[in-house]
Amino acid sequence: QWSRVRARLQDEIGEVEYRNWLRQAVLHGLDGDEITVMMPTRFLRDWVNKEYGALLTSFWQAENPVVRRVDIRTRPAGAANPAPDLAEPLPGGAGAGKTATAARPDDRADGAPPLDPRFTFDTFVVGKPNEFAYACARRVADGPAPGFNPLFLYGGVGLGKTHLMHAIAWELSQRADEVTVAYMSAEKFMHRFVSALRRQSTIEFKNELRSVDVLMVDDLQFLIGKDGTQEEFFHTFNALVDSGKQIIVSADKSPSDLSGIEDRLRTRLGCGMVADVHATTYELRLAILEAKASRAGVPVPGRVMEFLAQKITANVRELEGALNRLIAHAHLFDRPVTLEAANEVLHDLLRAYDRKITIEEIQKQVSEHYNIRISEMSSVRRARNIARPRQVAMYLAKQLTTRSLPEIGRKFGNRDHTTVMHAVAKVTELMAADADFAEDVDLLKRILTV
Ligand code: ADP
Ligand code: MG
Repeated sequence: QWSRVRARLQDEIGEVEYRNWLRQAVLHGLDGDEITVMMPTRFLRDWVNKEYGALLTSFWQAENPVVRRVDIRTRPAGAANPAPDLAEPLPGGAGAGKTATAARPDDRADGAPPLDPRFTFDTFVVGKPNEFAYACARRVADGPAPGFNPLFLYGGVGLGKTHLMHAIAWELSQRADEVTVAYMSAEKFMHRFVSALRRQSTIEFKNELRSVDVLMVDDLQFLIGKDGTQEEFFHTFNALVDSGKQIIVSADKSPSDLSGIEDRLRTRLGCGMVADVHATTYELRLAILEAKASRAGVPVPGRVMEFLAQKITANVRELEGALNRLIAHAHLFDRPVTLEAANEVLHDLLRAYDRKITIEEIQKQVSEHYNIRISEMSSVRRARNIARPRQVAMYLAKQLTTRSLPEIGRKFGNRDHTTVMHAVAKVTELMAADADFAEDVDLLKRILTV
């Protein structure tokens, strides 16, 4: 039962989210009508409770009608952990919260995940396109690196910038207990700054930031046009660099191309080490697939990997998504991964991919089809004649792209991933019940993938 519940969860929320949050969940037992599930840390417990509690309960009830409640608790210290490689979100027992602010309790509120345990140097595959960025990251992780301050990593989406930053944070927090590392997205930086302003606690915020040894701010392009936050970042930046602390920043463009960021900030950003993460090559994609497949412990024939490496070229995240789908499928149906299975499982995805289908395109096509304005895709209106097409578009986005549920939600007026999940379930259900509706959706799918 538990393995079926887990398989459904994985299917529902996607492999990546599942691995981030739920893989370490351990079934403790059934007592009366209550199931107890154990999580290794309080942070994970609270998160899973909040985000997936309802889902867990309903899947358990579907498996076993006796179940009324699912209680999520923390595993007592010292208890065996089924996934020793992921034992703690932060290694070395250095204390979640001490060495990386990403895991601090007050960071739960806005849903920033802690450092991803998979993003280490060990799991980063090095090739021509990223070897320079990798070397710079390694150098910074080795300790004081004056010529590398700030380290500015830039490149397109899904090419490994966040992975490298987390790897540096892991390495530093593992090696030296006294080094405090703060990792946050630029978005998060802004939220914290703004809420500090609101609570009139900017002094504390400043002091806190200025007390770290290493500050990492991811996706700095988010600060374009946010002048107040840029100003604050600029001062923090100067204060830290002046006192010899390391700064690491990532963005989608080089400092000189980041228009909309103040000149003096851009200048300072570019005066340390600037490293470009280039688009992947076929060789790198193949090497990444090999590494991921062997870590997943599922045999994937070379031909399948060559096929994927040839087809899925945009970025590593999409490549990973495709491989994960294949592996999930193999697990679910207990079948080996073959080229035929790859063609079948990834059929829609590959066709859409060949056309580089985007969520925007899906939204446009679906709105036209149902004769509603495209802006309704992101609107809050809930009337059936608007909400249904929106759900169809979410469903198609899930089917035809490798975007995760949260990513899809964001494109639909910043909706929650659970909303997307419900849309997918709803449309699936309706398609099974209503042949006309199913035909309609299939037609849309064909239009989008021809
Ligand atoms: P970015 O921050 O540049 O948008 P990420 O660091 O989030 O990209 O990477 C996207 C996904 O691809 C992550 O799951 C990451 O682990 C994986 N990835 C990217 N580059 C590599 C690489 N060289 N080796 C292994 N995995 C990689
Ligand atoms: Mg990133």
